[in-house]
Amino acid sequence: MKKKLFAAALATIMTVSLVTGCGKSTDTSSQTSEDTNQTASADKLVVGTNAEFPPFEYLGDDGEPDGFDIALIKAIGEKIGMEVEIQNMEFASLVTSIGSKIDVAIAGMTVTDERKETVDFSDPYYEAVQCIIVPEGTVFASADDLKGLKIGVQLGTTGEFIAEDIEGAEVSTYNKAVDAVNDLNNGRVDCVIIDANPASVFEAQFPDKVDVLQGTAYGFEVENYAIALPKGDTELANKINAALKELKEDGTYNKLVAQYIEN
Ligand code: GLN
Repeated sequence: MKKKLFAAALATIMTVSLVTGCGKSTDTSSQTSEDTNQTASADKLVVGTNAEFPPFEYLGDDGEPDGFDIALIKAIGEKIGMEVEIQNMEFASLVTSIGSKIDVAIAGMTVTDERKETVDFSDPYYEAVQCIIVPEGTVFASADDLKGLKIGVQLGTTGEFIAEDIEGAEVSTYNKAVDAVNDLNNGRVDCVIIDANPASVFEAQFPDKVDVLQGTAYGFEVENYAIALPKGDTELANKINAALKELKEDGTYNKLVAQYIEN
């Protein structure tokens, strides 16, 4: 018995040193296996998303991520000859997971200077603006009316960044946007700041409870969604941008907008 255990342990040690040795001969950097991108493969693109952001990404009836972004990245995958595998995770983890758990991220993600320090972005594919979900009948005369309010936002989003800058605001963060809206309906927050399209989806979901105020009226700036990419991977960026351009030219992009966003 003891002998067997010893043999097993020896085999394990040998395997480990074989693997380590192999790693060393091909990669001279000091990365551990945990740091190394496990996803990179020539014909598979592992795509991170946060399926809590309809109509861009949500869980379909079959429990699988669906939505405009998912359809778009699958169409891009087809164009560039890569199989797309979707990984659903928290929005706040997406940017830092690129290059380790995932290859790229598509999640209604706004291009920001801060994110650009960590990742590159594809060409923009959709324009958005933050909106304010309020209890039905509420009207804010100006941005001043937001001061000192309890504001619900999705963690790590541009909605959170805007809310944090509002004087005296008490900001509550949620991993799922719908939880922020539920807290609005329960009276735990006074309003929710979130992108225009999901705001419309939630308004349709709770028609007697909430209204949506357009953020442009309160000085919120137009934002651009793009696919977040590994920093410096111009080859992948060029391929994805070329595919995006083709999908716009051949009508696929407009078809997906009609199917997922304007229906
Ligand atoms: N567009 C927002 C951002 O990039 C929200 C995205 C999201 O919640 N999926 O921060």
